[in-house]
Amino acid sequence: MTTANPYPHMLEPIDLGFTTLKNRVLMGSMHTGLEEENGGFSKLAAFYEERAKGGCGLIVTGGVSPNTRGRVAPFGSEMSRFWHVKKHREVTDAVHKHDGKICLQLLHTGRYAYHPFSVSASAIKAPINPFKPKEMSSRQIWGTINDYAKASRLAQKAGYDGVEIMGSEGYLINQFSCKRTNHRTDEWGGSLENRMRLGVETVRATREKVGPNFIIIFRLSMLDLVEGGNEWHEVVTMAKAIEEAGATIINTGIGWHEARVPTIATSVPRAAFTWITERMKKEVNIPLVTTNRINTPEVAEEVLANGHADMVSMARPFLADAHFVNKAAANRAEEINTCIGCNQACLDHVFKQQRASCLVNPVACYETELTFSDTKTEKRIAVVGAGPAGLAFSCYASERGHKVEIFDAASEIGGQFNFAKQVPGKEEFYETIRYFNVQIEKLGIKVHLNSPQTAENLAEAGFDEVVLATGIKPRQLDIPGIDHEKVKTYLQVLRDKEPVGQKVAVIGAGGIGFDVSMFLTEKEGLVNNLDEWLKEWGVDRNYEEGGALAPMEAHKAEREVFLMQRKTSKVGGGLGKTTGWIHRASLQKKGVNMIPGCSYKEINDKGIVIEINGEPQLIEVDHVIVCAGQEPNRELQEKLVSLGQSVHLIGGADVAAELDAKRAIRQGAELAASI
Ligand code: FAD
Ligand code: NAP
Ligand code: SF4
Repeated sequence: MTTANPYPHMLEPIDLGFTTLKNRVLMGSMHTGLEEENGGFSKLAAFYEERAKGGCGLIVTGGVSPNTRGRVAPFGSEMSRFWHVKKHREVTDAVHKHDGKICLQLLHTGRYAYHPFSVSASAIKAPINPFKPKEMSSRQIWGTINDYAKASRLAQKAGYDGVEIMGSEGYLINQFSCKRTNHRTDEWGGSLENRMRLGVETVRATREKVGPNFIIIFRLSMLDLVEGGNEWHEVVTMAKAIEEAGATIINTGIGWHEARVPTIATSVPRAAFTWITERMKKEVNIPLVTTNRINTPEVAEEVLANGHADMVSMARPFLADAHFVNKAAANRAEEINTCIGCNQACLDHVFKQQRASCLVNPVACYETELTFSDTKTEKRIAVVGAGPAGLAFSCYASERGHKVEIFDAASEIGGQFNFAKQVPGKEEFYETIRYFNVQIEKLGIKVHLNSPQTAENLAEAGFDEVVLATGIKPRQLDIPGIDHEKVKTYLQVLRDKEPVGQKVAVIGAGGIGFDVSMFLTEKEGLVNNLDEWLKEWGVDRNYEEGGALAPMEAHKAEREVFLMQRKTSKVGGGLGKTTGWIHRASLQKKGVNMIPGCSYKEINDKGIVIEINGEPQLIEVDHVIVCAGQEPNRELQEKLVSLGQSVHLIGGADVAAELDAKRAIRQGAELAASI
């Protein structure tokens, strides 16, 4: 029986004249950290090879600078000398083995360079970087154009099918194209024609150097999302000039890194920015790629079917699942491990100079290190707890050939992800639970729900190994009045849906305190209404003049919330590096009162008494919600060991401090690889 093509637009080849891409999916550029690691290129080759094997139409590498000043950091990678070519060969050969195509991204960071030798259009420091750039001389600018062209020629020699010239996200070319960062009065500043000259001349020089049969993608900032960004007619003029200069494809760039509008976080509605590429479709003739928060084949198909673009770019979804395209093509989309947009193991790592990976797929960027060979000794293994740790362990161990049975006291799998998924803006967490359900079914893993386990019944069942993935218990506090009926745990709010009054105090401002505050202040369903969301973050969809920024229009908060912590540091300072500011800004817009540096004195009929700088104050509230961290839940361990059972601890059951799903899943996978 033949199956109809499930995603006809996404899977349709695209003819670029001199070459054809096998489908409309571009894997967007991502720095992995392997580029700079000792011996990292072999690992990088394995990483890209897996994505080529997985059916991606065109891969774009992480950014590599065309010269030293443009490097991301002092030891950032560069393509400027003939000896740089050899190691890239390993990558291109690996991709070509599987009929894949790959472009090298050329990225000059300009004022975003994290070193003291940075340069830019004008000597204006970026708000997100301590280094002030030097203004480039005209000679330096022409030299940089030449460096781009030379780097492209070297990329060609290294076997790449093309290059992507990075002209968005607030990097050098974008710094020249916008008045925000370009205050020059010479032929590189002032009029748009002058400001866009660097980008246009770079494409022209590159085309001259590489000849006609080489892909040149230009990543154009279609929405700067910063004050002093370009107006729509300017973006269009630049796109036309880039086309005329010899680009093969224009890719869409959304928002500078310093923009205060979220563009890729999980709370951004899916495909939230494809409308801007659709507008550009009317203006140019070369293929356009659209991007940002496209994470399922259904969304990709819809965007293409609606004519918003000729291709879709997905970056993080290829960390989450290397075989995204092939699974979709084989009508097995439900088996795709979906990117949940959390940034926790990808961007947050890169910004901390750590190797990128993926929360839901710990194998990403560890293809040669975290491997799962068939077991030689099949074991019967009981896994207690179907949270992220237990689920990850079970699937990987079962793939290796072990006989796994899962037990959970709850009525559904997912553990704490079942609470996370209810927080407005975190609906993507449903996808991870869906993925594990499909895997369990496919692997034939036996699951016992509503099945709380004791050490005795586990030991009696005679398993070879017991894996305790029993998670955590919320921390019990010792505050006078903690037993008052006003007090609830976050589980009573999120899991048991107990009613909560209009005025609420939240004890603990970690990830869960923030999520609970969001849950209490945001109307259900509002976050995924694109128009409302754009208004809330001040993005003017109809922008013509003055850039796309409009005043933010926050919704009225559902409740009055006081979010408290004992630390005197910034509330929310410990949240994710690339997403913490979004959580803080979201709650600020809801008028949440953030109170650092307090000690909790008493909870009484009126509310909670706190002390700040020795001054007691009463916060009158209807309820006090405790989100004060957690402790490991591993009661079964001691008894099991005493009964002679071999036991392993993973996830929260092992260490609760600083636990997150990233560690839980990785630990489950690592145990499965070695058991
Ligand atoms: P758990 O998910 O706690 O699972 C333990 C399982 O064991 C449960 O299903 C429980 O029913 C079962 N169990 C316990 N005892 C027994 C027994 N005796 N018999 C049978 N079954 C038993 N993390 C992130 O990384 N990113 C986030 O954005 C994020 N957001 C969150 C939002 C909220 C609101 C919450 C509550 C948590 C969030 N987390 C987040 C934390 C993340 O969910 C946890 O770190 C992760 O779930 C821990 O996984 P685990 O498998 O160790 O334990
Ligand atoms: P957490 O981040 O460790 O926060 C615990 C909070 O409780 C802190 O604000 C802490 O602040 C307070 N606290 C600790 N001990 C206390 C005590 N004895 N009395 C009063 N307050 C106390 O833990 P969490 O919020 O429970 O989150 C659990 C894990 O889930 C986290 O590690 C987090 O990574 C993960 N998570 C992540 C996200 C995300 O978006 N990435 C979202 C939710 C959860 P003070 O000590 O200053 O009072
Ligand atoms: Fe997506 Fe989170 Fe994985 Fe990054 S870490 S790729 S955002 S699921």
